[in-house]
Amino acid sequence: MKRPDVVIVGAGSAGCVTARRCAELGLKTLLLDRKPKEEIGQKVCGDEVSKAHFEATGIDYPEDKEISSVISGADVYPPNMKNELKVRDWADFDGWTVNRLIFGQRLLREAISAGATFMPNIHVGSPMMIGDQVTGVQYKDLSSGDSVIIKSKVVVDASGFAAVIRNKLDNALVENDISKEDIALCYREILTLKMPLAEPEVARVFLGGEIAPKGYGWIFPKGAKVVNAGIGITGGDGRGSPKSHFVKFKETYPLLFGTKVIDGKGGAVPVRRPLKSLVGDGIAFVGDAALQVNPIHGGGIGAGMRAGIILGEVVRGAIARRDVSANGLWSYNTRYLSSFGQRLASLEIFRRLLQSVSDEDMDFGFERKLLEAEDLMAANRGDGFSLSIVDKLKRVKRGAGRISLLIKLQKAAGLMKKMNKAYSNYPNSPDKLDSWEKTVLDIIESANFE
Ligand SMILES: Cc1cc2nc3c(=O)[nH]c(=O)nc-3n(C[C@H](O)[C@H](O)[C@H](O)COP(=O)(O)OP(=O)(O)OC[C@H]3O[C@@H](n4cnc5c(N)ncnc54)[C@H](O)[C@@H]3O)c2cc1C
Repeated sequence: MKRPDVVIVGAGSAGCVTARRCAELGLKTLLLDRKPKEEIGQKVCGDEVSKAHFEATGIDYPEDKEISSVISGADVYPPNMKNELKVRDWADFDGWTVNRLIFGQRLLREAISAGATFMPNIHVGSPMMIGDQVTGVQYKDLSSGDSVIIKSKVVVDASGFAAVIRNKLDNALVENDISKEDIALCYREILTLKMPLAEPEVARVFLGGEIAPKGYGWIFPKGAKVVNAGIGITGGDGRGSPKSHFVKFKETYPLLFGTKVIDGKGGAVPVRRPLKSLVGDGIAFVGDAALQVNPIHGGGIGAGMRAGIILGEVVRGAIARRDVSANGLWSYNTRYLSSFGQRLASLEIFRRLLQSVSDEDMDFGFERKLLEAEDLMAANRGDGFSLSIVDKLKRVKRGAGRISLLIKLQKAAGLMKKMNKAYSNYPNSPDKLDSWEKTVLDIIESANFE
């Protein structure tokens, strides 16, 4: 392809969906990935993706061999493993664990069928620039060893956590300084169990500083006797490696005794609100490269797919109007950040709240039901969890003795509402971004629950 309209770097779930949408809308679309074609989709992941994302995007549900297990509920355990919260009928969580390789291969096939050109074994090194405008990329063809420059009207960085283009841009609109506290380091194993699962459709989530400092552990079913189990901890020194925490967890959790390891690997995922701007001049970011991940559970497959659909439409419009500057691409920000992005941002507050609660308080909160399944669902929707006066009084009674915990809950609910409001007022042009960012940073600063 001589001069594509759009070059997309990375054929993960976000890149493939963006490529498909761009191609469907008639753009000359080039999708590049450093992996060989048959490895596209392979990814260290918890493999869970909810149905709601497919409903929101119109992407076909996973089928047949793409599905490892149907998921319809979660048990959330506090540190002492007692009084777990049984979450059922949670539309935002129910879905599937998928076979990542087969699912990823399908998304790639759909992009190619829509007309995108895919080139595997391509290592993208850096953006090509004229001033602040990204005009293409430089890459190395890993098969031939050739170094090549390719020009395009728009470049999309969909290279995942590596964010290979974003990290090389020096522009006030583009954030690169992501705090260690906002990155989850994970280790997960695919395990064969000795006994079949009693509830093969229920995911298990484990909270507490002992199991996973400022993070969580999970066991997601992948079949009657197979699970995806792992630990994610947020960065920062002195918290040990996720693998060492996982080894300890495996030694203490009876379901995992005597299991056979099919695969074990580490990975990283951002758990912050999305980038303040998802675009610059001639460039847009999608998926993990845009920090489009749910900050409480690290789920990013759906968040990136939702963004890819919007981005394809925005790129098409910007090219048609011959304005691929940040201004021309801005409606990607307004469409994503004031809708799904708003939810992710308010969940960052909830993540900060969870991380501040001591194991002892967490056990107490679960025992006295200070936080209920409905609150968790409302929080995940990004609604905040508004406690009615009667409800508050009931909880105050139940929480007598740990009033500080209720105060934290109440404060978090208020800040989540504020964050929602800020995102619903996302500026409609780049010149107002600074004052908007200040509002958001003030909310984040107040979200200190220690
Ligand atoms: C342990 C773990 C558990 C997780 N569990 C879940 C879960 O259960 N559910 C969920 O929804 N999300 C989960 N996530 C997050 C989810 O995996 C990511 O959010 C999602 O895969 C991001 O998709 P992406 O397309 O942005 O990036 P990726 O899937 O990482 O794709 C990026 C692509 O870019 C390519 N690339 C990178 N650098 C270059 C380069 N220089 N040149 C060319 N190509 C390049 C890579 O080869 C890759 O194919 C988890 C993450 C981790 C680490």
